[in-house]
Amino acid sequence: MRREIFQIWSISEIYVMLCNCTIYDAQPSQEEPMQYDLIIQNGTIVDGAGLPRYRGDVGIVHGKIASIGKIRASAKDVLDADGHIVAPGFIDGHTHMDAQVNWDPLGTCSCWHGITSVVMGNCGFSLAPCKENDKDLVMRNLERAEDIFPAAMEAGIKWTWETFPDYLDTIDRLPKGINYAAYMGHSALRTYIMGERAFSEEATYDDLERMQREVRDAIRAGAMGFTTSRHVWDV
Ligand SMILES: [Zn+2]
Repeated sequence: MRREIFQIWSISEIYVMLCNCTIYDAQPSQEEPMQYDLIIQNGTIVDGAGLPRYRGDVGIVHGKIASIGKIRASAKDVLDADGHIVAPGFIDGHTHMDAQVNWDPLGTCSCWHGITSVVMGNCGFSLAPCKENDKDLVMRNLERAEDIFPAAMEAGIKWTWETFPDYLDTIDRLPKGINYAAYMGHSALRTYIMGERAFSEEATYDDLERMQREVRDAIRAGAMGFTTSRHVWDV
């Protein structure tokens, strides 16, 4: 099952932020619906297409942007964005939110900076695959490499997974204010397959075959891919 992680230009992707700027006026929009669910009015639009910023309105119907420009139709809700920039949310391709997503539904402080989609599991670190009994090993990675307190992880994570697809199912169920996508980390995978040998031995041909199977299953379930690090102390 492939998961649709990003919904570009849906309502959750619009980010409004403060700005002083030089702007152009938008032309009236064509073929407006009778009524919008929401109009974000008088904002300064930076649409990400490389155009100069311009003043305009964004009209939303059923959670999707229906038009951008000068909107004259009515709406159930109107948000005055005068003096603010209205832009698509940013995607942060390098985060370590793997643990935090379990206890922080808003995804702070990424959401404060206009980030609406994050990719986690970078640098070879993820919390899956891992059995609950071995969780200290993968939590230690995040503690050492990313300065995440073990006490926070212990208190904030309900360990409901073993495989990477199980982990993605957990993320699906959690309340989330931003979008998440995940890589499988090499450190967790290696430890999952090799146990204690992961810290002292080279992987055998059989180990590698089992690792490949786990990665394949993870990608089929919606993982973005696999990450690793070239630092020996990260493995
Ligand atoms: Zn990193």
